Amino acid sequence: MTESDLRTQAEEIHEQFADQLDLDVDDVEERLDTLVNEYKVPLNEARRSVTNTYLDEAGMDRDQLGGGGGGNEQVEVADVDSPEEWVDMRVTVVELWDPRADAVAQVGLLGDETGTIKFTKWSKSDLPELEEGKSYSLRNVVTDEYQGRFSVKLNRTTTIEELDEEIEVGDDSIEVEGALVDIQSGSGLIKRCPEEDCTRVLQNGRCSEHGEVEGEFDLRIKGVLDDGEEVTEVIFDEEATEKLTGITLEEAKEMAMDALDTTVVADEMRDDILGRYYRVTGPTFGRYVLADDQERLTGAVDADEVLIKARSI
Ligand SMILES: [Zn+2]
Repeated sequence: MTESDLRTQAEEIHEQFADQLDLDVDDVEERLDTLVNEYKVPLNEARRSVTNTYLDEAGMDRDQLGGGGGGNEQVEVADVDSPEEWVDMRVTVVELWDPRADAVAQVGLLGDETGTIKFTKWSKSDLPELEEGKSYSLRNVVTDEYQGRFSVKLNRTTTIEELDEEIEVGDDSIEVEGALVDIQSGSGLIKRCPEEDCTRVLQNGRCSEHGEVEGEFDLRIKGVLDDGEEVTEVIFDEEATEKLTGITLEEAKEMAMDALDTTVVADEMRDDILGRYYRVTGPTFGRYVLADDQERLTGAVDADEVLIKARSI
């Protein structure tokens, strides 16, 4: 057993606990040295024993150390481009949303200089609460993808460390403006799948993944803005839809109940907003812009021209 072997092993152990414990490489090496040279313990057993000591000290499970000793790649939000990868990130919590299922402890948006990404933290994971506006080092998170949009999941093996520095969040929002020339199907009062982390929009009471389910009402508009040169698809969530149309979720439910038909809501909204001009700001999501902020523009609008155009797309 050469001294440099012990040193290398000590450095690797030190690296594995770099985020959890304030270890000195010399101390780690000394522990290994005692076991190997005084007690004649084989090096791999000595390493396991020393690692276990530090796991206890850090209150961690062995599987939290991450696979293979190499650790994960540290990635930026914009680098996430495939599902099921184990990565480390340094991010700020941009927004927290209300979890729709008991299995989800926290859900929201994380961001860094390169943009923002959705995250889900499972209740089972038993991880500390993330706070909006704070920056964290997240290790061992798993990437996921749904309809071209990537997200990360925080699980039982994830470690969370609050950072002293602030990770700046780049603005990946874009601004589009134009006439609202179409409101697509799936707009108005819709029902979403209540299954954990699903939220797919139901078609005739069925989720494409979970079959027939008791849906939860939501408001949404999928609209098309036309600036005369190109068209952009825009999604307005419940809050944005309410702001756009003045119709709340409760009012929409009442309208649907009175008419015994949910489609009256989209019809009413259509009458109100189609052909009007809007400026919409928000992040992109596949081919859509998600409306974070919107403003109705006044100005010369030739409604007939807009609608003739609308029919042609
Ligand atoms: Zn579902």
